Amino acid sequence: MNGFVQTLGLSRSGRILADVAHPPVDNPSRPPSVDRLARSLTGTGLPHPLLVQIARRAIAEGDPGSAPELARRRARQMLVPVINATGVLLHTNLGRAPIAHHQEATYANLELDLSNGKRGSRQEAVGTLVATAVGADDAIIVNNCAAAVLLILAALGRDRCVAVSRGELVEIGGGFRVPDVMTQSGATLVEVGTTNRTRLADFQRAAADHDLALAMHIHQSNYRIVGFTESVSIADLSSLDVPVVADIGSGLLDASCPWLDGPPPDWLRDEPAARQTLEAGAALVCFSGDKLLGGPQAGIIAGRADLVRTCARHPLARALRPGGLVLSALQATLEAYLRRDGDAIPFWRMAARSTGELRDRADDLARRTDHEVTVIDTRAVPGGGTLPDVSFPSIGVRLVGDHVEALREHGRPIIARIENQHTVLDLRTIDPDDDEIVVEALDGLTTSTSSP
Ligand SMILES: *Cc1c(COP(=O)(O)O)cnc(C)c1O
Repeated sequence: MNGFVQTLGLSRSGRILADVAHPPVDNPSRPPSVDRLARSLTGTGLPHPLLVQIARRAIAEGDPGSAPELARRRARQMLVPVINATGVLLHTNLGRAPIAHHQEATYANLELDLSNGKRGSRQEAVGTLVATAVGADDAIIVNNCAAAVLLILAALGRDRCVAVSRGELVEIGGGFRVPDVMTQSGATLVEVGTTNRTRLADFQRAAADHDLALAMHIHQSNYRIVGFTESVSIADLSSLDVPVVADIGSGLLDASCPWLDGPPPDWLRDEPAARQTLEAGAALVCFSGDKLLGGPQAGIIAGRADLVRTCARHPLARALRPGGLVLSALQATLEAYLRRDGDAIPFWRMAARSTGELRDRADDLARRTDHEVTVIDTRAVPGGGTLPDVSFPSIGVRLVGDHVEALREHGRPIIARIENQHTVLDLRTIDPDDDEIVVEALDGLTTSTSSP
């Protein structure tokens, strides 16, 4: 699970941050040399040019003694593995889905067809896996779902009209606003229906009045409109004369979840799945790679071969294409799906853990640490801008008082949450292999800071 980060030089135990020598003070009336001060900070593991910047800044501010703290803070900005104890399975600040991926420093046949030695397509192998997993004719991969929407609209809707229900003209988070993306693509938005109610007749009128290229359906990923509402199903939309594009967002591949041992979990009940959305009549679906799919950050466009090809041939496709690292991580994720091996996908492994198993680990943790903790029932959430009204039972440990900063400062940062002024670590999102590190971190907490 950690091979990927290790190869890139991030050790699983995190950087050693405490080992910073005191800055040299030879003559208090003369500032120390930049070079000597920078050299005294090598324990942070930061590259020398960064240490020189820090030393210059500390000296310029007349406070060379602040250099170790500045260096420590700078080291803290580097990308490092962290322990997610928040109980939010897809935490956007923590990179959404955890991925297991290992790659040696090696060439790969990214754009070489090994059967004939000619130039191949970087999209073909992974595209075929996706298409197989969701029952589509074809699929391509881009950098994220926002890029997928942009490419679809630019390739299929430019200089024409695209109809969207007013109930779906929203901001999905991180500034992704459907009307703005539409403008950038060169397509003209035709708003249909009202915020709470949109009917097929509204779309039929739009089709009669405008040069419609597409009808678009955008899943209400992180919000709900409740009460007096009505919306048009994919099946009804597909009765229109134009292709239906469904942005399902979360990337659930198949509502029957054949990669899990049991039946689909109850909390997925209202979540649209790619396979069923295509079966219902969508010409294209698009979704994220790092939400419920549990893979790397990517965007996937799957569906009718002619439309997928038109997207692939558009000049923007070149600018939005993923690199080999992403494609090989996505390939590994999709192979696990096709082997029906949900256990090989960290997201599904976390989601499937029983509370009994989590409670055993929490009890064990409580026994092993010197710090006083209480095992408690918690609620974990999918997160990542999906399923806003879903939570499922989980188990955590509670520490008296606020320790989130101290835990974040641990060699391997641990991200916890505060509940009623006490610190809660949720076991569901902590990899069992990391329990030992959590015990270490808890042992290191002072009880003095634990009184609220
Ligand atoms: C999350 C989401 C997006 C954006 O996906 P990214 O992969 O983060 O770009 C777009 N549409 C819907 C419906 C989403 O849920």
